[in-house]
Amino acid sequence: MKTYKFKLYKSKKNKYLHQQIHSASSIYNHCIALHKRYYRIFGKYLTQGKLKSHIAKLRKKSSYWSLLGSQATQDVIERVDRSYQQFFRYCKTRKIGTPRFKSYRKYKSFTLKQAGYKFLGVNKLKIGQKIYKYSKSREILGKVKTITIKRDGLGDIYIFLVTDFVDEEVYPLSGKSVGIDFGLKDYLITSDGDKYKSPEFFKQYLDKIQKLSKLLSSKKKGSSNRVKAKKNLIRAHKNIKNLREDYQWKLARNLLKEYDNLYFEDLYLKVMVKLWGRKISDLSHSEFLKKLEYLATKLGKFVGKIDRFYPSSKTCNICLNKIDSLPLTVREWCCLECKTVHDRDFNAAKNILRVGASTHKGESVRLLVNKSNF
Ligand SMILES: [Zn+2]
Repeated sequence: MKTYKFKLYKSKKNKYLHQQIHSASSIYNHCIALHKRYYRIFGKYLTQGKLKSHIAKLRKKSSYWSLLGSQATQDVIERVDRSYQQFFRYCKTRKIGTPRFKSYRKYKSFTLKQAGYKFLGVNKLKIGQKIYKYSKSREILGKVKTITIKRDGLGDIYIFLVTDFVDEEVYPLSGKSVGIDFGLKDYLITSDGDKYKSPEFFKQYLDKIQKLSKLLSSKKKGSSNRVKAKKNLIRAHKNIKNLREDYQWKLARNLLKEYDNLYFEDLYLKVMVKLWGRKISDLSHSEFLKKLEYLATKLGKFVGKIDRFYPSSKTCNICLNKIDSLPLTVREWCCLECKTVHDRDFNAAKNILRVGASTHKGESVRLLVNKSNF
C-alpha cells in the first residue's frame, strides 16, 4: 500500500467538492442521531446493514444528500460504524465517550472506493460529472484502491490516493558506520569528512513572511482582506514546512543508503534553542532524527545516540586528550599533546563515532579504536 497526496488546482468547480463534504457531514451527523435514537427506543445497537438501507431511502428524497455519490455515502456509514465498534471494544477498559456529532467545519473529507471517479489524461480526475485538475508531483505506482477528497483549513482541496503498490525499499547492508555531528553553518558533518550545507529555508522565506505579517496587521479586523492576508501568511509557513520535510527525508535516505550504523549526540535541544534562537529551530534537528530513526527501523539499520555530556568537541580524537574549554566561535584548534590541528565539527563527529560504536556493539570497537590511542 502506498499513499499519494496531490493538490487540486484552484477552480470555481471546487465548490462542488466542498458541497459534497458538507453533504457527507450532514449524513454523518444524521447517522449518529439515528444510532442514539435507536438505542434509546430499542436498547440495541443499530446494525450497519439497517443503517445503510435506511439512509439509501432517505437519500432518494433529498437533493442535498444525493450530491454525495452512493459510494461515498456508504463510506460515511462505515466510518460511523467503525467509531461505534471502537467504542464498544474499549468502553469497558478505557475512558472513551460515544461517537459525537461533528460540526461541518470540522468535517473535512469523503472517500470513494471502487467507483465514482475516473482518471483522465495526465492530471485530470473525474468525480461525479465534473472534471478536476490536480498537480501531479509524482508518478502513481500500483492500482488505485481508494480516493479521499480532503479540504484543509485554508479551503484548499487535496486528493489522497491509496494504491496496492508494495513498497520494497531495501538498502543493502554496507557494513559502514558513521558518527554525525550537527552544526550551525553546516547541517551535518560526518566522521568521513562530508559536510551537508544547511538549507535554512526559514531565512530564505523570512523576508516574505515579514512582509506578509506586516500586511496582515495593517488590515482592518473582521475585513475580508484580513482573512485573505492571514491565509497568505499561513500558506507561506506551510511552504517552508514542506520544503524542510522534503529536505529531511531525502537526507535521511541518502545517509541510510551509505551507512548501517549511524551515531549522534543526544542533543539537549531546548538549551540549544535558547542559545541560538531561531536559527536552530529552523534547522530542526530533532525532527530530522525522528525521520531517520523511523526509516532506519524500517530498513533494518541502526541509529544510536551517545551521552549528551560526553565532551565530543573538546576531546582530541587522535590521542583522547581533553581540553578545558572551546568557545563556539573557535572553528579550528590544535591539540597540545599530539599537535594535531582539528576542524571542530569533524573532530566531534569522529569522537561520536568512536564512542557510539564502543557502547553499541562489542565487535565494532575493535574495528574503530586504534589500540595505540590508549
Ligand atoms: Zn591529541
